[in-house]
Amino acid sequence: SNEDVLPEEHSEYDNKLLTELERENKRLLTIQETRKSLPVYHFRQELLTSIKENQILIVVGETGSGKTTQLPQYLVEDGYTQRGRYQIACTQPRRVAATSVAARVADEMNVVLGKQVGYSIRFEDKTTPDTTILKYMTDGMLLREFMTDPELSKYACIMIDEAHERTLATDVLLGLLKDILPHRKDLKLIISSATMNATKFSSFFYDAPIFNVPGRRFPVDIHYTLQPEANYLNAAVTTIFQIHTTQALPGDILVFLTGQEEIEAAQQSLEDIAHALGDKIKDMVIAPIYANLPQEQQSKIFQKTPQDCRKIVLATNIAETSLTIDGIKYVVDPGFVKENSYVPSTGMSQLLTVPCSRASVDQRAGRAGRVGPGKCFRIFTKWSYFHELEPLPKPEILRTNLSQVVLLLLSLGVTDLINFPLLDKPSIPALSKALENLYILGALNSKGVITRLGRMMCEFPCEPDFGKVIHTAATHESCKGALEEVVTIVAMLHETASIFVHARAERDQNKTAVVGKVSSDHMLYLRTFNSWRDMDYSKSWCFDHKVQYKTMVRVRNIRDQLWRCCDKLGLAALNEKAMKSLNVDENLEPRIIKSFIAGFPTNVARLSPTGYRTLGKSQGGVNVSIHPTSTVFQAARQDMKKPSKLILYQRLVLTSKEFMRDCMPVPREDWLQEMVPHYFNGDNTQD
Ligand code: ADP
Ligand code: MG
Repeated sequence: SNEDVLPEEHSEYDNKLLTELERENKRLLTIQETRKSLPVYHFRQELLTSIKENQILIVVGETGSGKTTQLPQYLVEDGYTQRGRYQIACTQPRRVAATSVAARVADEMNVVLGKQVGYSIRFEDKTTPDTTILKYMTDGMLLREFMTDPELSKYACIMIDEAHERTLATDVLLGLLKDILPHRKDLKLIISSATMNATKFSSFFYDAPIFNVPGRRFPVDIHYTLQPEANYLNAAVTTIFQIHTTQALPGDILVFLTGQEEIEAAQQSLEDIAHALGDKIKDMVIAPIYANLPQEQQSKIFQKTPQDCRKIVLATNIAETSLTIDGIKYVVDPGFVKENSYVPSTGMSQLLTVPCSRASVDQRAGRAGRVGPGKCFRIFTKWSYFHELEPLPKPEILRTNLSQVVLLLLSLGVTDLINFPLLDKPSIPALSKALENLYILGALNSKGVITRLGRMMCEFPCEPDFGKVIHTAATHESCKGALEEVVTIVAMLHETASIFVHARAERDQNKTAVVGKVSSDHMLYLRTFNSWRDMDYSKSWCFDHKVQYKTMVRVRNIRDQLWRCCDKLGLAALNEKAMKSLNVDENLEPRIIKSFIAGFPTNVARLSPTGYRTLGKSQGGVNVSIHPTSTVFQAARQDMKKPSKLILYQRLVLTSKEFMRDCMPVPREDWLQEMVPHYFNGDNTQD
């Protein structure tokens, strides 16, 4: 054997190597065992037969039964990719799910992520064109692929996963697929969904068969509060400690919160209380998970909980069905979700915290019953469950701004929007509003036909309004030359939630310390990025200035992609030409402001005796305030400057009142008429 031949001094090294190999073998073995233990495994052959016999199959099964990770692998194993000639796509409504599942599947197939198995999400493509056979992607990315490949000819199978989430992109995808399936007889479509809605998908696709994967699920005890709770976050924290101190280990806790800020606040108070209690309680590890959480921190939720310790996962509704976390025995559910809501008549879009549907809270409760009998603590009353919650969540298509999707459909040649096949049809006012918005932006002409500008706006991997801002900065006579700056700001605006490190008291002083005084949030973002760039994109600069390095790297990547798009469309060259004629120390700020007016003419508020009011057209506007975290708010307070008469904002957020976030003062009224004459034609600016 080896030991006889090897010289003494090498044996230690080789032993280490051997155990490492053994460990790796063992790991692969357990992965294979886990695969075989999943409920779908028992139906592998039946599923493959059904897929062979039907072009469209709807697969329904309990969360955690293996639909997302296993089905696409079965298709690969069954030869659908024809030795790499075709690809298999699996769409996800959420970016986190796409990346995390792709990583898991690459691991199961024992391949490098980004080669045979990859993912594609907006601004990040981790695939290799000639090598990737299995691709996890967001539904929005597949939707964009219709622009370059309207028959999706490189795919053999498409799995629309988590279809019950009913995102706008998923709904539109299903409509487009319904259109191409008759010409693409060899293309297989699998729609996978939690139990809600399955029959709706089936009837949409001419009564396609439903394949039900029976799940294993243990009983879950549901507990309600006796009275409604005024502060559900505090109540959730208290409940977590009650569970932790009274319930035996092991048994991890999953808590459903609405977003990053709430999760961070909960984490802070859990840590503070645990610290104060010290040795009196058992250890706990806190694992947050939300859409913007940096990828390398996501894996913490899947790590095995150490002995004599409890894991507490603080999650958004991403953990409702898209991600399965093993070992959860307790669910704490305040019953809220953050949902986009759009009012066509005012054109206002808001992210609101609203009660979940009954179907959602039932799904959430089910997360406690995967490993054994579990318990779910609802931070609301039983009465509320039966009388106040809606039965099903409202599909996104019925509560969102449709401009981007309408533009995409028009660019794909779908002109009969009313008869385009959709599971739920948007209202006529919502469609008209989208057309009107696109007309204001110049994406459509007065006959409703898509313009050249409109086609260009589609090319940008961002909302049409941002496309318009970028296009204006490169082409408009009084904006030309500001393209670089505008692209930087647009990239930064995509990541505003996590640019500055969250230490509230410090943060605000710190912002100005980074860049000096600025007049708007847009300029703050621009200077922050440029200061970082001037320091060679240094990590330590970020650390010193309390800016999140990882976020900035993402921004830089987004910026590069937007810039490549500008290059492709010839806008970069136009900009270069314009820069030559500009004075070197010309102030670019007016050009930047004007570019943003061109893209967001409807996001302007005017100061009235009672505060700011949006410039509503027919509705007469709404009262809004500058968000306290905005530099514009702080500048007004510190310098006692007269507040700006006009403010352009990027978003409205409703908390205690209606707040404008990411604000930019518009110094001159006539800029509005100059940039968007067909919108600001006299009377609607007189509010
Ligand atoms: P479904 O799509 O039916 O909800 P999945 O295919 O997502 O089920 O999950 C199947 C199983 O794979 C889960 O029960 C879990 O054990 C495992 N799994 C999925 N993702 C990961 C991951 N990132 N890390 C570890 N295990 C995972
Ligand atoms: Mg899944």
